Amino acid sequence: MPGMLEGKSVLITGGGSGIGRATALAATREGANVAVADVDRDGAEHTAELITRAGGRALALQVDVTNEAQVEAMVAAAEDAFDGLDGAFNNAGISRGRDYQPGMLTGDLPLQAWRDVLDVNLDGVFLCLRQELKQMIPRARGSIVNTASVAGLIGLAGASPYTASKHAVIGLTKASALEYAESGVRINALCPGYVRTPMTQGTATDEVHASRMARTPMSRYGVPEEVAEMVVWLLSDRSSFCTGSSFTVGGGIEAG
Ligand code: NAD
Repeated sequence: MPGMLEGKSVLITGGGSGIGRATALAATREGANVAVADVDRDGAEHTAELITRAGGRALALQVDVTNEAQVEAMVAAAEDAFDGLDGAFNNAGISRGRDYQPGMLTGDLPLQAWRDVLDVNLDGVFLCLRQELKQMIPRARGSIVNTASVAGLIGLAGASPYTASKHAVIGLTKASALEYAESGVRINALCPGYVRTPMTQGTATDEVHASRMARTPMSRYGVPEEVAEMVVWLLSDRSSFCTGSSFTVGGGIEAG
């Protein structure tokens, strides 16, 4: 059976780690050429190497998604390398900004801690989405997936910049999906629950892990590969009637 993404080319930001890397490998398995973009050059190159070893075709790109010129150059490079883009996964994100101290609540947040998160998680998605639309709309086809979070659907205490940024990604996804609903380009949001990646494992204490598990009905972290399965389906033509929607992969977290 041919892969879900056979003959397609996709761009993945935040592709140097976690959910982005797992999706890059799942997209390769499904037959896609993959442009792997990340601010972490080594991470992007390592993912590209894993793709090549798996028999796929990859391009590694270093990009800061908050930088307009770099985002334009990234989309142009991916388009040139693969003769157009069929899919994009706008997934680069951070959980906290500079000046953030553990335990800080909204009333104590320095402006920088707020802006850093909004810059990457929201402005970064906007800049990528805008550039991808410019490229995909004239060709009248494409599928774009923006990474939000369960924190785009419910509030997470102690993480108001992150929660606000992810709610905004869902709003941006809905509005742009409506604008382009008849264009052949679909835009959806992905809402992972707690997934085992450097983002969640980095500095979390036992207490933090326990509270996450208490919120997750399946009582475990997801693994990036479980999220990647949803993304490749959304990037593929198999999800052809889906646009403007938010898809949760979260072990039941939003049901409670
Ligand atoms: P991760 O830290 O493993 O990967 C994030 C990647 O984004 C890193 O490789 C990082 O270098 C890259 N990145 C950060 N800032 C960037 C920038 N300015 N420009 C380009 N690349 C940048 O984390 P992950 O868990 O794989 O997160 C991927 C996405 O999933 C994020 O948007 C995150 O908010 C979201 N998410 C994660 C979880 C989870 O539990 N892990 C849950 C919900 C949503």
